[in-house]
Parts: sequence; C-alpha cells; structure tokens
Amino acid sequence: MTVAFYPGSFDPMTNGHLDVLVQSLNIASSVIVAVGIHPGKTPLFSFEERAGLIKDSLAQALPDAAGRISVVSFDNLVVDAARKHGASILLRGLRDGTDLDYEMQMAGMNRQMAPDIQTVFIPAGSASRPITATLVRQIAAMGGDVSAFVPAAVLDALNGKFKRQN
Ligand code: ADP
Repeated sequence: MTVAFYPGSFDPMTNGHLDVLVQSLNIASSVIVAVGIHPGKTPLFSFEERAGLIKDSLAQALPDAAGRISVVSFDNLVVDAARKHGASILLRGLRDGTDLDYEMQMAGMNRQMAPDIQTVFIPAGSASRPITATLVRQIAAMGGDVSAFVPAAVLDALNGKFKRQN
C-alpha cells in the first residue's frame, strides 16, 4: 500500500495537475491531493471551492479512480503533513528547468528533514507543460478563453467568477 501526497495551491486545478494525478496512479495505490492554506495569501478560490473543483474534475476525468484519490488541506510543513496522512511518497510535477531548480532545493531540504519520505518527480506531458495556475487566473480575469487549460468544472467556476459567457 503506497500512499502518495501531492501538495500545491491548486488555485485552481488545471489540466497540468490532472495529468500529474493520472501518472501518479501508476506508482501509488492511493493519492492525497493536499491543498496548501497560506495565512498571508488571498487565493482566488477558497479552500472549500478548490477542494470541490478538484473533486468535480476527478469525478469527470477519472471516475474509476475516485476511491484512490482524496483531498485534504494543510497549513504546516509539507513533510509533517505527508507523515500525518501516512504517505511515504511526496509527488511534485516538473514542467521545465525553472521548476527543476526550485524543486531540487525543496527535495533536498525535505530529504534532510524527513528521510522516510521519498520525493518523486512527475514529468509534465507535452500538452500540459506550459500550463500554470497563475497564468490561468490572469487570462481568465482578462476575459480570455482558458478552456484548453482547465477541466470543465473549473472553466465554469472561472466563468462564474469573471462573468464570461462562452
Ligand atoms: P502552479 O505552480 O501552477 O501555481 P501549484 O502550486 O498548485 O501550481 O503546483 C502544485 C504542483 O503541481 C507542483 O509540483 C507543480 O510543479 C505541479 N504542476 C503545476 N502545473 C503543472 C503542469 N502543467 N504540469 C506538471 N506539473 C504541474
């Protein structure tokens, strides 16, 4: 029984996150999507909204895996949160060299703090490689079409926030 912990902001869930989750099911028996809560930051979507969008997107895209993926929140050290949930794998997605440099630093420091938790990098697929949640938020806020970058449930929620009619 291999439990993987996938931390992030997921503000909102994108097709890139979804692609990481699809790949993670090949290496873990269950995956915990962990939505980070940062007291100093105001997200576009509340934790409840982000969790709901992750669940709706998964129900639509991966209905057979519903029992293997759960969603939690955390506001402490990632390795502490992973351990609390019984995870032995820490999942991180890699898009490019910028991600790699930052992720290598985090993986190294997390390993020092928690040698029992193994970081595993998941490579972005070619279609989802350019997608970042930050750009999705910016494009949607300016009335752009983000339908190629996010699951349908997220598209509806963004259209609702920014009143775009497709
Ligand atoms: P973002 O970096 O887009 O704001 P998060 O902070 O929620 O998103 O990212 C959580 C994890 O998902 C990180 O490991 C990040 O590298 C990974 N990730 C985000 N977008 C993608 C993508 N398009 N392809 C692969 N991994 C991704």
